[in-house]
Amino acid sequence: MSDCLFCKIAAGEIPSSKVYEDELCYAFYDIAPQAPTHFLVIPKTHIGSVSEIAPENSGVVAHIFEVIAKLAKELNLESYRVVSNIGEQAGQSVFHLHFHVLSGRDMTWPPG
Ligand code: AMP
Repeated sequence: MSDCLFCKIAAGEIPSSKVYEDELCYAFYDIAPQAPTHFLVIPKTHIGSVSEIAPENSGVVAHIFEVIAKLAKELNLESYRVVSNIGEQAGQSVFHLHFHVLSGRDMTWPPG
């Protein structure tokens, strides 16, 4: 999608601090970290949010979770949280599917 911030980041058109990349997904550190470790994992193809996941595009989501597990091991994250906000009321501000990976501090449950 031409005016999507995360499409541009995945394409390298806007700089980011890369954690990992392969043919399907891109991971990069959040510009406003909410924990000592906070990165985002996104599909390279445009999907608006979890609400747009369907049989035709769910393969990349499974792949992203494999990547999250791999990166967590590589970064020695023993305890971490994976979050995806869907819709403005839930806190979504960028409308390209992304999974936050947060680690390195105590976290409350339920979230605020
Ligand atoms: P959400 O609010 O759940 O949609 O998450 C969007 C996240 O993207 C927020 O945590 C922002 O801090 C982060 N973000 C926005 N712009 C950038 C950027 N240029 N580079 C890295 N992270 C960004």
